[in-house]
Amino acid sequence: MSKPSILLIYTGGTIGMVKDFETGALKVFDFSNLLERIPELKLLDCDIQTVSFEKPIDSSNMNTVKWAKLADLIEDNYDKFDGFVILHGSDTMSYSASAMSFMLENVDKPVVFTGSQLPIGDLRTDAKENLITAIQVASLRNNNDPVIREVCLYFEYKLYRANRTTKISAEHFNAFQSPNYPALAESGVHLKVTKELLWPHDPEKQLKVRKNFDDNAVIIKMFPGINEQVLSSILNTPGLKGVVLETYGSGNAPTDIYFISILQRAIEKGVQIVNVTQCSGGSVNMGHYETSTMLKEIGVISGADITTEAAITKMMYLLGQDLSPAEFKTCFESSLRGELS
Ligand code: ASP
Repeated sequence: MSKPSILLIYTGGTIGMVKDFETGALKVFDFSNLLERIPELKLLDCDIQTVSFEKPIDSSNMNTVKWAKLADLIEDNYDKFDGFVILHGSDTMSYSASAMSFMLENVDKPVVFTGSQLPIGDLRTDAKENLITAIQVASLRNNNDPVIREVCLYFEYKLYRANRTTKISAEHFNAFQSPNYPALAESGVHLKVTKELLWPHDPEKQLKVRKNFDDNAVIIKMFPGINEQVLSSILNTPGLKGVVLETYGSGNAPTDIYFISILQRAIEKGVQIVNVTQCSGGSVNMGHYETSTMLKEIGVISGADITTEAAITKMMYLLGQDLSPAEFKTCFESSLRGELS
């Protein structure tokens, strides 16, 4: 049995950063140094090749064009490798990992995002464990077939479905959570994968890579006191096509006439509005309270238990696919890649 071959893609992020001597700020450095700093990689039972973004970035500079570049790297190398590990800054990792899950339809190999809270050279770094285990996860085999066939995120001993994650801490090593779906695997003395939670594989279906995003979209987080003029000017932005509305609790929002009319007018003009909860866990259930009944009646789409990160990336992805309003609603309310229940 040949060793699995893994492509390690470095996009940037703390994992490969060093302190600038003059300013003390963290900045990205040459990827080749990253591998020199982890001789343990040679001990892994897989062949690793590496490729880096020409200019590695802090993930705050991530955007839809760079997501397409990342998808190109996977598409171009898909047949040459058994698995992919993407090193990415943790700040926007859940957005990029969600976007990648939508771009790679019918992916049947592991694509594992990871990063770290401390640079790889730091004495107390979390980078080594994250990187080494992410590579091990991407190398897992069952009778020569990959165990994982979806886009995941590995951080601090847990492997999650990528599009279920959210960054919850700027301080702790345990920086990610998957509030509405259990971890796919846990790393302790053994690497334990819960097979029933994995995305099912359909051998009949071929990989399709769709890189078209439409970024005429916005996230609006509700708060008591939200102002009519501000809301109206956002919803009347020329070219606006999609809104992710972060509402209260199980999908509730003000019943004020002004509020409902602004949303209704936008929907009539063809803007897609998706309701997600601003709670860190749980689901939207429009119609459960009076304060969400009108939203349902005017045609607001339910995001169910999707995260905001997955909702905005799914929004931009679906807006880029040229769907009719009815198809858009059906696709958004269905689980395309396991992003909602
Ligand atoms: N600012 C960094 C980034 O997201 C933080 C990290 O890598 O964790 O690129």
